[in-house]
Amino acid sequence: MNKKRILTGDRPTGKLHLGHYVGSIVNRVRLQDEYESFFIIADLHVLTTKNSKDDIFEMRQNMTEMVIDYLACGIDPAKSVIYLQSAIHAVYEMNLIFEMLTTVPRLSRLPSLKDMARAAHLNEMPFGLLGYPVLQAADILMPRAHLVPVGKDNESHVEITRELARRFNYLYGETLPVPEVLVGDVPTLVGTDGKAKMSKSLGNAILLSDDSKTVAKKIRNMYTDPKRVHADIPGTVEGNPVFVYHDAFNPDKAEIDDLKTRYRSGKVGDVEVKEKLTVAINNFLDPIREKRAEIEADSGLVEQVIYEGTVRINKEAEATLLAMKKAMGLTGNWNKISRKGRKRLEKKGSVMGETAVSQTN
Ligand code: ATP
Ligand code: MG
Repeated sequence: MNKKRILTGDRPTGKLHLGHYVGSIVNRVRLQDEYESFFIIADLHVLTTKNSKDDIFEMRQNMTEMVIDYLACGIDPAKSVIYLQSAIHAVYEMNLIFEMLTTVPRLSRLPSLKDMARAAHLNEMPFGLLGYPVLQAADILMPRAHLVPVGKDNESHVEITRELARRFNYLYGETLPVPEVLVGDVPTLVGTDGKAKMSKSLGNAILLSDDSKTVAKKIRNMYTDPKRVHADIPGTVEGNPVFVYHDAFNPDKAEIDDLKTRYRSGKVGDVEVKEKLTVAINNFLDPIREKRAEIEADSGLVEQVIYEGTVRINKEAEATLLAMKKAMGLTGNWNKISRKGRKRLEKKGSVMGETAVSQTN
């Protein structure tokens, strides 16, 4: 029996952080045996907010770092496909088809897009950014994925994919699966500033590639309970970022319980809580760091992985696009015109080259 499929991925805007890990990567690693997985390097999605030549040039380095992060976390390229979005022709065409199946008010209601525009200091909503979830639907439906492991902020986007798949099937006949979303156990990991979600662009992230000293420094400066100006003042544990991180990354549950009890009764200083957290996070990151060093030393590995993955998904992409066009009747229209048109030209003795128009069937 064919395995069900996963599609998810990241924009190559920088190195990956703990938020990516808990939101999505952990599920990707866990499910890669059970599902046939496709992981997208979403470089076209970067263009929605950053599209200067310098931005595009920077992506080259970012995507290498990102794929090193993937492999270091345990994504196995022998099992899973990692590919470059912009190299797949079908995605541009599928995007256009899906653009016809949703509305501007529907997309305008998504708060995530307004947040992205604000974070990128854009006063007006770019057309392409409004279409971010539509392009994402093209990505997800291209390999006809069944499951999409993402962070909470992406849940509403996958809902758009579901609507578009349903709409397509309703108008043109059952062609596309309606995928399910899978949000991580920590749906949104808060940043070290305690204010917003951990994000590459907000400077509040602990990177998977940070060395142990950098991690120690970032944790030392972390936001905790602001009421606690002395260690003997009872503190709040709930929603406190240091305890959120303990819960997510410290496997010693007895240690966490002890720290929480003492924190609530004003019997432990922030310094001790943070030192123990530093140890836990560094222990968590150590194997990832080791694997990272191995991958970095293996020149050309990342490029090979992306090349193989891109060639692999391209076949799926062409097949899905053709199935969509057939369902819509677009190929039928073209077939009729090309048959008649070619015949008439042949009669006149002036046959056009077959390559003049790309034929999709
Ligand atoms: P940017 O700041 O460039 O938007 P980002 O850090 O938000 O970057 P994305 O590439 O937008 O990262 O997100 C990639 C995936 O990681 C998505 O599935 C997203 O939901 C998830 N993710 C990102 N940040 C977090 C977080 N703090 N907690 C949980 N999941 C996250
Ligand atoms: Mg983001």
